Amino acid sequence: MAKCQKCGREWRGAAIIKRYITLKPDVECPHCGESQYLTKKYRRRSLLSVLLLPLLIFIPIFAGFGLFTVLFTLAAIFSAIIGVQLFTIELSNIPETRRDGA
Ligand SMILES: [Zn+2]
Repeated sequence: MAKCQKCGREWRGAAIIKRYITLKPDVECPHCGESQYLTKKYRRRSLLSVLLLPLLIFIPIFAGFGLFTVLFTLAAIFSAIIGVQLFTIELSNIPETRRDGA
């Protein structure tokens, strides 16, 4: 679960969803108000899982499944990816940019 790196308290549903959907680099901790950023590791991982999507779209199409099955599979995979991303969110005290190296 997401944990504030300043006060160490866990973020719950609404705060995590806000952190997930907002495009701003920082979101304030609901407990202590400290700005929290997504870790670079997390952002890289979530980007990778999004890049997997096209692959997962084409497999059922080439396997000859019907349109409904393909759409249903897609919706299920999409929900699963978002679910995993929400549950594995990692917070950082400092903005981690691409220039930080590693
Ligand atoms: Zn906090």
